[in-house]
Amino acid sequence: MDNKVTVVIPVYNEELLIRENVGVIAGFLTQAGVGFTILLVDDGSKDSTWQKLRELSNENNYVKALRLSRNFGKEAAICAGLEEADGDACIIMDSDLQHPPQLIPEMIRLWREEGYDVIEGVKASRGNESIVKKVGAGMFYSILSRLSGLNMQQASDFKLLDRKVVDAWKSMNERGTFFRGMSAWVGYNRKSLPFSVGTRTRGTSKWSVLNLFTLAIKAITSFSSFPLHIVTFIGVFFLLGALVLGIQTIYMKVSGMALSGFTTVILLLLIIGSALMISLGIIGSYIARIYDEVKFRPRYIVSERISEKVGNS
Ligand code: UDP
Ligand code: MG
Repeated sequence: MDNKVTVVIPVYNEELLIRENVGVIAGFLTQAGVGFTILLVDDGSKDSTWQKLRELSNENNYVKALRLSRNFGKEAAICAGLEEADGDACIIMDSDLQHPPQLIPEMIRLWREEGYDVIEGVKASRGNESIVKKVGAGMFYSILSRLSGLNMQQASDFKLLDRKVVDAWKSMNERGTFFRGMSAWVGYNRKSLPFSVGTRTRGTSKWSVLNLFTLAIKAITSFSSFPLHIVTFIGVFFLLGALVLGIQTIYMKVSGMALSGFTTVILLLLIIGSALMISLGIIGSYIARIYDEVKFRPRYIVSERISEKVGNS
């Protein structure tokens, strides 16, 4: 039985390293003894990445490439790749070898021989990221796991998905995708494979702290409606406070004591004001998600496609 694996790699402004890295990844796939295609998705690169992908696909039968019409972001690039992929399994990985390709043979073994449907790379250490990113990621994943009820501790996009999982994933129609969460949501027979994040060989990370924060808000609002209920809790909390204060005020009025509560009034105004603002903000971020979803725009637009030549492995 000859299985074929499609390796989906989102690529954005990676002219410095893509050629070398595709070679390394292909080496490990050959070692795993499996038929393969490497599907490179150029996410609207502004440098010569697309030329490099063209060259690579001319030189190697196993390279296919898609070019998106602009930079849609890594999530959209992964979608484009998974929708195009035709392998019996898909491996999703970064182009910068921070997802160690040495694990590919083991992933394929677990899939073929032990029958796992999802083999997920779990970050055992996060490499040389800044402390802000490390702490932020730790907080984000524990909040998200708790709220969504799915185990996403130290998740990464480095995964092998069996064909049936890819098909299940494709049936999820949301516009704003969060690959890590969606591939956890579908379930199936799963296996974690810990890895240490390597150092980027060349070029720089494309993710700023602000980008990551936006992704975090998007992920939480897609996977849990709990923050909306927090708004209700805040409301109940203040209602109880209002009852106590109300009773006290009436009692003082009835017993004829003069009111001298200027500080209390100012403090209450400030506290209630900020609670209302936060609540509106939470509701607002869900409305924004609904707005994005109802427009039902395509997740990405493909502008060019380099397909496999006939008769390759
Ligand atoms: N990437 C992408 N579109 C983007 C940003 C990044 O396709 O808008 C790709 C990038 O080329 C790489 C992967 O996503 O293959 C991970 O990006 P990066 O290494 O910059 O992120 P980090 O490792 O810092 O999380
Ligand atoms: Mg990286």
